[in-house]
Amino acid sequence: MPDDRMMPNDALRLLFLAIEEVMGGDGMKAVLHGGKLDRYIGNYPPKNLDFGVKFSEYGGAEQAVEDFYGPRGAKAMLQRVGRATFNYGIKEQSAVLGLAGQALKAMPLPLTAKMKLLLEQVAAAANKSINQPTRLEEDAEGFWFIVDHCICIYRPKHAAPCCHVTVGALTESMRWLTDKHFTVQEVECMNTGAAACKYRIPKTPSE
Ligand SMILES: [Zn+2]
Repeated sequence: MPDDRMMPNDALRLLFLAIEEVMGGDGMKAVLHGGKLDRYIGNYPPKNLDFGVKFSEYGGAEQAVEDFYGPRGAKAMLQRVGRATFNYGIKEQSAVLGLAGQALKAMPLPLTAKMKLLLEQVAAAANKSINQPTRLEEDAEGFWFIVDHCICIYRPKHAAPCCHVTVGALTESMRWLTDKHFTVQEVECMNTGAAACKYRIPKTPSE
């Protein structure tokens, strides 16, 4: 495993709240136990941005959700967890995360321009508030959300891209902004040997 990396307490706390929302209290306990994170049962990290928790712990919780459901069922559940992390982030922590929230939603701009603004803010929040180096690129058909140091490198090797929580969070961010579904895909993943995790967000909704 590569050298561990610290992240703010609140990032892991929000993941735990999201998993608990999707799996319930007992499921959450099973996940924390399965991920050898028993110390957090009934004792979530505090709501602050001190660098008190580790990337490997975040990855361990994701992996424990996957192990709980098995590889086939896990993808959808982890995407649901990701959607919940975005909703908690925007509702509870928009000031901390630097997300403009409702103000951005109401801006009189073309849809694609608003998508770009929100994705830029999410990337900035990943850099600043999650300590996860992230950048945004764009071409005619879509955006690339690129994570250069991902939590997935602290998880066991997978045969296919495994960052479903991020896919869910990005999907939900676009739904929240536009009330439309954009099919977000993780095209390349560090866990499977790529240099970065690259997510494609098309500029055209699928419905
Ligand atoms: Zn990945």
